Amino acid sequence: MSTPSLLILPGDGIGPEVMDEVTKVIDWYGAKRDLPFDVSTDLVGGCAYDKHGTPLHDDTMAKAQEVDAVLLGAVGGPKYDDLDFSVKPERGLLRLRKEMDLFANLRPAQCFDALADFSSLKREVVAGLDIMIVRELTSGIYFGEPRGIFEENGERVGINTQRYTTSEIDRVARAAFELARRRSGKVCSMEKANVMESGILWREVVTKVHAESYADVELSHMYADAGAMQLCRNPKQFDVIVTDNLFGDILSDAAAMLTGSLGMLPSASLGAPMANGRPKALYEPVHGSAPDIAGQGKANPIACILSFAMALRYSFDQGDEATRLESAVEAVLAGGARTPDLMGPEGGTPLTTAQMGDAIIKA
Ligand code: ATP
Ligand code: MG
Repeated sequence: MSTPSLLILPGDGIGPEVMDEVTKVIDWYGAKRDLPFDVSTDLVGGCAYDKHGTPLHDDTMAKAQEVDAVLLGAVGGPKYDDLDFSVKPERGLLRLRKEMDLFANLRPAQCFDALADFSSLKREVVAGLDIMIVRELTSGIYFGEPRGIFEENGERVGINTQRYTTSEIDRVARAAFELARRRSGKVCSMEKANVMESGILWREVVTKVHAESYADVELSHMYADAGAMQLCRNPKQFDVIVTDNLFGDILSDAAAMLTGSLGMLPSASLGAPMANGRPKALYEPVHGSAPDIAGQGKANPIACILSFAMALRYSFDQGDEATRLESAVEAVLAGGARTPDLMGPEGGTPLTTAQMGDAIIKA
């Protein structure tokens, strides 16, 4: 088997700082676990604009299409706020998602025991929580036509269209069922089939895919509003949740708050299988470039490190090594190590970004 390839795009703000810690982890795997990666590094976002006048150079795009996985830090910052829309840092990320056709966005909400008191909910509701929200990422109301602001009967009207085809629903449903098979075997599909045509089709297609190919997985359906309530009331009833682009946007942010800090949350965006059978994939922390703390050694590298753990699991078939890395994070937190974002009112001395990375490697 050839050495697995990884394209690293650190990006802007705290992106390069947290990515430095991931690079240490990758080096550790090569040296200590005989698991080398063929790593190349390139620019995306504001730093790519500074050098090339575009947030994503064509050569970088081409590289992203060739590698086994892309790992991205964060893009953007105040320096680029006044740029023309077409060259904004975020456009670089959107181009990657679009051209790689990454239709399934995976956002785990996992509550580490040491941080359970950080949740917006009671400890007993979230301790041990481990759920995965699969959000459809390339279609739905953010893309449907017609869209725009029009004149009608003498007033303006803003229009967006929720639109899903059977094949779009089919492929994201399959991604969710495949995931459930590797987890506890349960999928809850969320839509609003009570009031939306796209919701009726969504439920129909998910039910059909389930019956035809995934009868071993337990499937339930819930209206998205009821789902939001259940996520806050009793989140541990869920394992995998699959939902559309709009509901997934909202539900995954709500789920994020169950777990504590933005600095803890990884994500994966997956596309169609490549020749090696593994999906096209881009991994990134949920947080942005956090310009307010950039360059100060205050950023929490855990979200980015856990994003690499997801890459180990979903792109490199190294589930045991992913668990090893996640356990190291858990152990370090249990031992009391904290970056500033994880400091409670009890105080203490926080670790720097690099110290947190070192502690995880040691563990
Ligand atoms: P974007 O528009 O790029 O998503 P945003 O405005 O949503 O950015 P983030 O950059 O994600 O915001 O960060 C919001 C705040 O959360 C930051 O200002 C920072 O204080 C905090 N934060 C985000 N990520 C981290 C991290 N890894 N470690 C510590 N604090 C963080
Ligand atoms: Mg944001």
